[in-house]
Amino acid sequence: MKVCISCEADVSGKKAYPIKEDRVIRTLRKLKKALGIAKMNDLYVCESCLEKHKIHRQSFEKNRLLAIVCGSLIIIALLGMLILSGRLNPWAALSIIIIGAFVMLLPFFTYTPAVQLPPGPEPAPVPEPSPLPPMPGGPGLKKAKRKR
Ligand SMILES: [Zn+2]
Repeated sequence: MKVCISCEADVSGKKAYPIKEDRVIRTLRKLKKALGIAKMNDLYVCESCLEKHKIHRQSFEKNRLLAIVCGSLIIIALLGMLILSGRLNPWAALSIIIIGAFVMLLPFFTYTPAVQLPPGPEPAPVPEPSPLPPMPGGPGLKKAKRKR
């Protein structure tokens, strides 16, 4: 079944945009298959949800970036403190990395996949560069060059 991931409506026969099968989607599918709860739906975003979805996607991308920055800062700051205080041991380092990784993964609780938008209007075919008619030394040649 073709399903809109936003309003969960069946979009068969309606205008809808497929989502990109990225690593997260593939992992989720594998997990669901392993758990036996895979619905094997084709995931789409229907036209009426597209604008909303785009906004969600943008905020997800922003959050992901923020989380990566925060996570790395946490790791650097905590590791730095441990090193400075001379109490660095593998377990402390490991727990710091786990905390940082958790922060980095937080946005994925609201994961919003990218949509494959229909390609825009075909770009005009680039004409073969025809050799310019010889214009010895004239200003016309200079003009033509500046245009490029
Ligand atoms: Zn929808």
